Amino acid sequence: MLIRRFVALALCVALLPAHAQVLPDLGDASDAVLSDKQEKTIGNRVMREVRIDPAFVDDPEISDYVKSLGNRLLGAADPPRRPIEFFVVQDDAINAFALIGGHIGIHTGLILLTRDEAELAGVMAHEIAHILQRHQSRLYQGQGKYQLASLAALALAIIASRGSSSQSSAVTEAAITGASAIMMQGQLDYTREHEREADRIGLTILERAGYDPRGMVSFFERMLRANRLNEFKGAPSYLRTHPLTVERIADMQGRVERMAPRLVPDSFEYRLARAKLRALSGSAPAQITYFRSQIAERTVVRPREEVYGLAIALKRAREFAEAEKELNTIRTGENAHPAFEWLAAQLQAEQGRRDAAVETYRAALKSYPGYRGLVYGLAELLVDSGRTREALALLDEKVRDDPEDAKLYELQSRAYAATGNRLGQHRAQAEAYFRRGNLAAAVDQLELATKVRGSDYYELSMTEARLRELRSQLRLEREAEKALKLG
Ligand SMILES: [Zn+2]
Repeated sequence: MLIRRFVALALCVALLPAHAQVLPDLGDASDAVLSDKQEKTIGNRVMREVRIDPAFVDDPEISDYVKSLGNRLLGAADPPRRPIEFFVVQDDAINAFALIGGHIGIHTGLILLTRDEAELAGVMAHEIAHILQRHQSRLYQGQGKYQLASLAALALAIIASRGSSSQSSAVTEAAITGASAIMMQGQLDYTREHEREADRIGLTILERAGYDPRGMVSFFERMLRANRLNEFKGAPSYLRTHPLTVERIADMQGRVERMAPRLVPDSFEYRLARAKLRALSGSAPAQITYFRSQIAERTVVRPREEVYGLAIALKRAREFAEAEKELNTIRTGENAHPAFEWLAAQLQAEQGRRDAAVETYRAALKSYPGYRGLVYGLAELLVDSGRTREALALLDEKVRDDPEDAKLYELQSRAYAATGNRLGQHRAQAEAYFRRGNLAAAVDQLELATKVRGSDYYELSMTEARLRELRSQLRLEREAEKALKLG
């Protein structure tokens, strides 16, 4: 009930002009100091660095799963919703974080620690609530004229961290250090209020999206207990940025008791993503042993995700034939899944059976035309095999289906480069940079493209028109960043 009233209030206030900061209610999301546009500018600036960090996970199976889970949760939130970009960071540290401007990062370590999908959904719902309530933006409120300097410091810390040799998500560490620094400036109590609000709204989102709300409580409870018993090496980063208290847990438990219990089985995509992450972490021999023992425990049915994990671990250990043998046991009939076909084709290619691999890809794409792993895998294989014409035909078709997929343009650029088409190479690379939010790099590529000699007149004038368009966008972005001292 409280939540409903609070939402109604937030909706009313949203219609008032921005300066009408009369209501002290924490639930009023419209009194944040930064405008939507300013938040977006900061978010884009930070994400530009995050996306090129080696720790940024671009495996489509992992990232698409987390995106679809995030969007399902977001769809269960009360309007007005805002678009949120969900991404995964390769890092064993247990963490999840919201960045200003609508971006949520989830560490692989956190995904692996969750015991079921409701736990993962619980953490994500909590982060979504932080964004929808604009807590990040409000943290800067009360910082007076220093707020913009803090933002600039945060952005700069992130950029500087890229220079360091440690690849283990220096980016997120910097983002967290920046956020902690802000919290340390006397905002901790305020933040506890934020936490309570994020818990409350997060639980509602979780329940409405069809997950067991107990997942959120059990995960936070486990984190708090483990932290007390010193089971983590140092406090998990997550607890540094999200103060977790006994009161918070008790509060959540009280709320959950009033909600209907739900027994929702984990989605296969969750189990698959977790098996893949596990198979790719630690040492390959250790994971082979792990998955073999998991499979041995089940006497009746070999769980598909465990067999899939085993096959990935075997591939890592370069035991391709053995990996193939295991994988083939789950590729048929009801078990079929595009992830298995992607792996099967990779194993064939690794063993020098490229034509067979192309066949596997083509057959699988007939059943799953939008499965990104299959598209990327086939395009790469075709380029590597010198079949660039086929690669370009495939990529043209897929770009028409999904014009926002940066990776498709990157592959296009590689294919053009292989054929010696430098205009095409730079133009495609520019489109890839543009979709990754890097306007300056996109402009550079287009400038290179216009300098290619002997280009077709029509192609050249198209390139010049695109260059003018992106230059003017870049100018606007720079002005907006300058106004925020993000320079
Ligand atoms: Zn929090």
